[in-house]
Amino acid sequence: MQAVGCVCRRDIVDLFDYADELRYGELHMKADPRIGLRAIVAVHNLKRGPAIGGTRFIEYDGTPSALRDAMRLARGMTYKAAISGLNHGGGKAVIVRPRGLTDEQREKIFHAFGEFVESLGGIYITCEDSGTRVSDMNIVREHTEHVLGFDPGQGSSGDPSPFTAYGVRRGVEAAVKFKLGRDDLDGLTVAVQGVGSVGYHLAKELHELGAKLVVTDVSDASINRCVNEFGATSVAPGEIYGVDCDIFAPCALGAILNDETIPQLKCSIVAGASNNQLEEDRHGQQLLERGILYAPDYAINAGGLINVAQEYEGYDAEVARDECTKIYDTMMGIFERAGSENATTASVADRIVEEMIFGD
Ligand code: NAD
Repeated sequence: MQAVGCVCRRDIVDLFDYADELRYGELHMKADPRIGLRAIVAVHNLKRGPAIGGTRFIEYDGTPSALRDAMRLARGMTYKAAISGLNHGGGKAVIVRPRGLTDEQREKIFHAFGEFVESLGGIYITCEDSGTRVSDMNIVREHTEHVLGFDPGQGSSGDPSPFTAYGVRRGVEAAVKFKLGRDDLDGLTVAVQGVGSVGYHLAKELHELGAKLVVTDVSDASINRCVNEFGATSVAPGEIYGVDCDIFAPCALGAILNDETIPQLKCSIVAGASNNQLEEDRHGQQLLERGILYAPDYAINAGGLINVAQEYEGYDAEVARDECTKIYDTMMGIFERAGSENATTASVADRIVEEMIFGD
């Protein structure tokens, strides 16, 4: 089975075989041709509590792609929630975005989707994801309580990226302690790939801790913000891998740890927010062989999930931040076990979750 933090490009050949491979779980589907609704809710695992995960609303080139996306992402949510100690399982919804979508059709689709979520009786709790926005969640909220991230000001948790960034900072601190034996980041160099929502907040946190920053982005405005506010230096996007630094923090794209980039790295640690950083499992092994400590993506970038899950308990931003602080201990546990077993950190993170969920 492919590790959770890797990119998976295979097509589904047999749906039940694929479900077995990912150790499912439940799949729910709802269609309404009158309004163009094609929705999938994948509930991967409920052992630790109701499944939580966002709703994607993007175009797909066919039902198998939409199903694979929902199933793969929901499994990822199970692992992210469990490794973070949350009492939630993993779920994900995919609504296939119709071509030529109108505002009126969008509203109808989200009303129907709200009814769909309600019909599942609380086993799945939804929130925003690619292609959905707060206004969509407000519509869903008219039909069900099992939705998070609706209108801020009504007890909702708002933008998750500062919490994700804070969690990544805690993971970086754990990696620095484990790999470099240091309790601070003063004077260490961090190369940040992508200074958008999470990357910007991470750069801010690291700057405040005395780290030197080298940043890249495809947006000049995003780069300039970090140069002006944090005294960062900048490099072209293709040069970030070869920057001489202590920590490389990917905060833009997936699959950036691969045959082409790993040989270029001049860092001791890779720790950043991007999802699915390893192109394949073997790239985790390549990093280990090069003596580079890799912080498994779904464990270090769980701050946004921890924050939104806190909303389910009755939102308190301070409690959410305290919970994100624990990412340090989670990461340290993974590093120590990987060190003692001489295994990749990615495989150890997966094993910790599988022991919790499946008793393996
Ligand atoms: P974002 O879109 O706000 O920021 C991404 C940044 O990367 C943008 O500034 C973009 O211009 C830049 N970028 C795009 N292509 C690039 C390239 N080739 N080289 C350098 N920079 C490039 O997204 P975000 O919310 O900050 O998320 C960043 C990553 O973290 C994503 O992989 C996302 O899935 C993951 N993540 C985000 C959150 C969250 O709370 N937002 C939570 C968990 C994981």
